[in-house]
Formats: sequence, structure tokens, C-alpha cells
Amino acid sequence: MSEMATVAELQERLRRPLAAELAGGCHDRVVAGGVEKLLSTPLAGPFPKVREVLSGYAGLDESARAVALREALTLLGSTGKTTRRAAAPAPTKMAPPQAAPGERLPLDAPAERLNTGPGGARKLSTLGLHTLRDVLHAYPHRHEDRRALPDLADVEEGQKVTVMGTVVSKFRRAPRPGMLILEIVLETPSGGRVKATWFNQPWVEKQLREGARLVLTGRAKKFGRQTQLSVEHMETVDKAEGSLSTRRIVGVYDAKEGISQEFLRKAAYKALEAAPLDDYLPAHWRRKYGLTDLGDALWGIHFPRDEAQLARAHGRLRFDEYLFLELRMLLQGEDAVLQGKRFEARGEDINKFEAALPFRFTNAQRRVLLEITDDMRSDQQMARLVQGDVGSGKTAVAACALYLAVRDGYQGALMAPTEILARQHYANLCGYLGQLDVRVGLLIGAMTPKAKLEMQTRIAEGDVDVVVGTQALIQENVQFDNLGLAVVDEEHRFGVQQRRRLLASRPDVLVMSATPIPRSLALTAYGDLELSIIDELPPGRTPIETKLIQDTARQQAYGFVMGQIRQGRQAYVVTALIEENENLELLAATQLADDLKTILPEARIDLLHGKMSAAEKDYVMERFRAHEFDILVSTTVIEVGVDVPNSTVMVIENAERFGLAQLHQLRGRVGRGSLQSYCVMIAGETSLKTRKRLKIIEGSTDGFVIAEADLKLRGPGEIRGTRQSGIPDLRLADLANDADIIEQARELAKHILANDPRLEHPRLQYLRSELQNRSSSVAYREVI
Ligand code: ADP
Ligand code: MG
Repeated sequence: MSEMATVAELQERLRRPLAAELAGGCHDRVVAGGVEKLLSTPLAGPFPKVREVLSGYAGLDESARAVALREALTLLGSTGKTTRRAAAPAPTKMAPPQAAPGERLPLDAPAERLNTGPGGARKLSTLGLHTLRDVLHAYPHRHEDRRALPDLADVEEGQKVTVMGTVVSKFRRAPRPGMLILEIVLETPSGGRVKATWFNQPWVEKQLREGARLVLTGRAKKFGRQTQLSVEHMETVDKAEGSLSTRRIVGVYDAKEGISQEFLRKAAYKALEAAPLDDYLPAHWRRKYGLTDLGDALWGIHFPRDEAQLARAHGRLRFDEYLFLELRMLLQGEDAVLQGKRFEARGEDINKFEAALPFRFTNAQRRVLLEITDDMRSDQQMARLVQGDVGSGKTAVAACALYLAVRDGYQGALMAPTEILARQHYANLCGYLGQLDVRVGLLIGAMTPKAKLEMQTRIAEGDVDVVVGTQALIQENVQFDNLGLAVVDEEHRFGVQQRRRLLASRPDVLVMSATPIPRSLALTAYGDLELSIIDELPPGRTPIETKLIQDTARQQAYGFVMGQIRQGRQAYVVTALIEENENLELLAATQLADDLKTILPEARIDLLHGKMSAAEKDYVMERFRAHEFDILVSTTVIEVGVDVPNSTVMVIENAERFGLAQLHQLRGRVGRGSLQSYCVMIAGETSLKTRKRLKIIEGSTDGFVIAEADLKLRGPGEIRGTRQSGIPDLRLADLANDADIIEQARELAKHILANDPRLEHPRLQYLRSELQNRSSSVAYREVI
């Protein structure tokens, strides 16, 4: 845990993903970007032999890859000091022995030893779960109470219910082209009957056999005494294995097509049975903070006996997440005060920059700029996060800071998460800096190798002042002549570890983020970053008109969209995410695009979804930006800050399924130019609670207000996924309501390190290894 990783640590950080790749079947998919990319990172620097053994990996067939990997792992296992994990079963055999019933496995055991049936390990690995520890900590993202069925007579309109039963009949109707209604009658064990419907989801049809046992969750609609369910989640239940999925409080996991909830429950169950659940927190600390023990917590999150156990589990595991985060922050903080660049950052240069702008800075921008220039003038390395709503003027402020750096004779870099965003920033910076004699360059993957090389050379020779590009390209392939300031956009997509790597080259660092998270949380999540907030929008924006409508008024909504298109405008249509399943999400989007083509034959419509590669997404966005089509139908991938000023309408289908913060981000995609813009939220369900939530969006355009309100409205115990919190280490976090827990975790972390700065005491041995393992796995999954 010292500030410089030791060779043994580097070795371990390289070994883990390679072992996972071997365990995952050598498809070169476990390490995003591929094994060879991993080997080209500084991580692999000290291990030339390993690089040699694995060179050309992508071109090998799977058995040759396995041979090479084993050789590499042997090399990594035998150099340097032996680690605790060196004693763990090295994944060196083709078919590792599986756990005998009752046998304990180490937490690092590959998931295949869990004996989850044919293809089980592969399924787990497609979800990013490679070890026993991974499976244990892949918590359900929500729970359903299946202990007792609600009495159908008492169910209210709009209420969310779960029912279990057998399909007794099935109907299918296609009233008009592009519309398919599937309907079943489900008989519950007590003899009650409920009708369940699916609109335009042809892919569920094959699971609706008569006689199939199903568990359905959805919103109730009442027609007199009859109850109808519009289904949001369906599981088929196997008679033999139903015990984990029925008659209890049941966890619902993140999954993908072809991976059933039952399978995941079985895997979790086996992991719990096999895992050594020794607690890494000594008992007196657990008592002090009122925390249950680890075994109770892990069983309780996966298979709670009752609400009380589930609550205990949440309390404990959430505390642990914050504790590890705090420990990591504090340990990294050791090298936070570092010699950085010292800039003059002259006031006259700020004036010069502002004079060249077509506008004046807002007060908020000015304040933040002062905070930045203070940092730049000091000897210490700047590490500052600028948080501000979309369009609040972060980029303009960053451009000014880059200008100051260049005026002091340094180079600057601006890094974006995607190519399209890099292009957009490039265009903006050219606008801001071009007239001030600053030479701005672009470096993205889509350029020809020759153009890339040329740009790299110019950067190395100091012929370019500011380079804009994707983070990967800039970090891995650029030797700067004299880098002074690095600006990183949309930080939350990278994660803490990668930022540390960037900091290693010691420029001053400015991070921009539009994720509106409350201050207390920002401090925790971004620990070692100072925080600046731009809490004011530039004047003269025409506020976006927001309207919430019921899905019965869809036709009118799209009539309105068509009106805008006839005036030469463009529109986004975003479709609901179906939480457990990316493939279904894609199908839903495809279906929606087809529907719209029928309803709006004049409009040119195209599709964007999460399964596309980065290059494909960029291509679609580029064409949309060039107005080569009118309506972009998309899953939520457009959340990231893309600017298409000619788009004036954002339609959000099934708005009730999104978090408010997410709706707000989506709405921020329009209103980017001077044109009046609109956001239409179509709600498929209109219970009082839903209307109350969505009205907040209708009534406010302030991201911070919305984020707070959102957090308050969510009920206790509702688990948010990583996707929503935006912070990779926090799976259970409930950001606004956790202020106390955050405080306690921080207190404990400080206490622990005050007495034992390197966690060397034998009593803390488990804590230390848990900390190392959790952080490295998170780093790999989120970063590479
Ligand atoms: P962000 O990076 O926070 O999304 P930008 O810096 O890209 O915001 O600014 C959004 C838009 O507002 C840009 O077109 C920019 O030129 C403009 N802008 C920025 N600051 C101001 C200001 N103080 N007054 C008027 N317009 C501004
Ligand atoms: Mg921006």
C-alpha cells in the first residue's frame, strides 16, 4: 500500500486479469481492449518475459492462448516475493477440480470451482464474475417479497405486485402492423386468476407455454373485479429448483440474455456455502458501529430470512464499501501533496481570454476560475474537480485554464471518454483558443496511422500547444514535450485508479463532471480532489419546456415531434431500460424504431444502442449531427454529453423507469442552442407516487435540486446499481441518506490508519487483503 506499487503488487495486478482470462475460456474478452492492450500498459513494464510469451495473443487460437497464459502465469507466480495468493490454487489445469460438497474454497478461487453446472463459469464470466469473491459481492440490485401472495382483491390500481402461478391460457393479437399484444391467464396456487400482458415484446412469447410456472412482477390495472398486470419482470421457475426463487424474499440480479435469475441465485448460494466468511472487521468495531457480522450480512443480502436481516445486511455491506473507499483514499492521500507545476497564471491573460469570448463569464465561472488559478500558482500539484450541470460552462473555464498554461510555456491536454466527445471539445477549443494563437491538435483512433504518428511527433516536439483526444490514446501513446495541465472530462467513467496513473506524470489536473451529486458524497467519492461547483447557468438560455403525458397520448406527442421535424429540427427518442437485460433493451429500442417508422413515414429514423462498438456509436452520432437523419432512437447510451444544437425535442418513453437524475441528464441533451426546446416524458404507469416523482422534473431544471429530491423520494432499502450512482466502488450506496454512515466509516478508517498506517498488524491481515482485492478488481473492471 505504499505510494509506489512494489513489483510484487504490480505482478499481482497483472496476474489477476490474466488468471481471469484463462478462467474465462481465453476468448480475449475478459480484459476489455484485449490482453495485448493490457501488456502495453506501464503495469507490464517490469515483466518483459511475460510480454514476450503473450505477444500476438489476439492472433492465437484458444488452446494456444491457454498454453501461453499458463506460461505467463507461471512466470508471474515465481518471480518476486511470494504473496498470500501464490498459495491459492493457481489456475493451471484445464479442468480445475470442483468443490466437493461442504468444502471451503479460498475467496480467490476461480468461479468454475463453484460447480454451477455446464457453462456455468462461462456465464458468470460474461457478467464479469471470475472468482468466488466476485460472486459473493455481486449483490442483487433489488429484492422481491415472494413470501406470501397479495390477495388479488386488495390490490390497488397502479400498485406494483409480484404473483406466482401457472399459465392456463395464452392469446396473441396483432391489431395493426407494428403492434403485438401477448396475453396470458395465470392461475395462482390459491386458485386466483390474473391476466398479464406484454406489448410489443415478441421475444417473450416462447416462454409463455401453457403449463409454464412463472413469477411475474408488474403494475396492476383494475377492470372491475378483474386484475390485469402489465409485466415488467418475468421469471420462469423450475419445479425442482424453485426453492431459491419462491416463497421467500428473493434477490434480483443484474443478468444478460441466456442467464437466468435462478442460475444466479444458485451461484450465489454455492459461493456462500463454499466461502470462508471470516470477518475482516474485528468484533469490537462491529459493536461500536452497530454492524452485523460478515456471514450474516452476505447471507442476508442474497437470501434474507426477513426484512430485519436484509436491513442488517445493507447496513453492514454499505458501511464496508465506504470504509474501503475511505481507506483507499487515505492511503493514496499519502502522495497527494506533491510537487506539481507552478504557473504564473497572470490576470492579464485571463482578461485577454475573456475579451476574445463572445460572452462574459458568469459569477460562478469566475469564482471557479479563481479557485483554479490559486491552485495553478501554488507549487503543489492541482487535483480539482469542477462539477456543474450540462451547459453551465465548464468547458469554457477549462479552456481558459489551458490558455493560462500555454501562456506560461507549457502544453495542455483535454481528454474525453469517447471520440465523438473529443471531436466536440476539439471544435470548441479551436473556437476559444484559435484566435489567441494557440495551436490545438486532435488525436483520436479514427485517424489514419500516418496522421496519428504525425500528431504524436508534433506533440513530442512541442509544435502543438493543446491536444484533445480520447484518454486512452493520450495516456498511452503520447510523449509530451512539456505537459503542464491535463483536463479530464466526465471523470466518473474512468474511476479513481486511472486518474492516479494519470497523476503519475505530475501535470496539474482538472476534472470536469456533470454528475450532480451532493457535496458530502463528492468528498467521499472523489476523496483526494478539491471540489469547485458551477451552480449557475449562463444567462439568456430559453428554458426547456417539459411535459409529462400518459401513454394514451403518445400519438399527439409524436405529432408534435413531426411538427418540429417539418421545421427542420431533430429529435431524440429514448426508450426505457429493461433493467436486467441489455439484449432486451436493444430489442425494445429496435422495436420502437420500427414503430416510429410506421407512425412517422416522412421522418428519417436511425438507432443507437449500447451493444454497438464505440466506433459505431460515434459514426451514428456524427451522422445525426450532420443532420443525415431526423430522429435518433436510442437506449440510454446518449446520456453522455453530446451536443447537437439542432435537436429540439427529447422524448422519453416509459419515463417512470428512469431515475430523476438520469431524466435530468437526458433532458440536458436538448436546449443546447438558442432554439426553444422541449422534453416530453411519456409515462406508461401513472400512480400517484410516479406522478409526484416526474412532476419534480417538470418543475425544475436545477440538477442539484433534482438530485436531492430524487434521493429523498426513494424508499429505504431500494438498492441502486453502479450504473446509477456512477461511482464504481459503491454498489449499495444511497448517497444522500448515507451522510451518517459516511462519517462513521471515515472516522473508523482514520482511526485504523492512525494506529497502523500500513495495516500490518496480524489482526488486520484480512482487512488488508480484502482492501487490496476489492480495489484491484474494481480497477480492472471499470478502467481497462
Ligand atoms: P459545459 O462544459 O458545462 O457543458 P460549455 O462550456 O460547453 O458547458 O458551455 C455550454 C455553452 O454555453 C457553450 O456554447 C458555451 O459557449 C456557452 N457559454 C459558456 N459560458 C457562457 C457564459 N458565461 N455566457 C454565455 N454563454 C456561455
Ligand atoms: Mg461539457
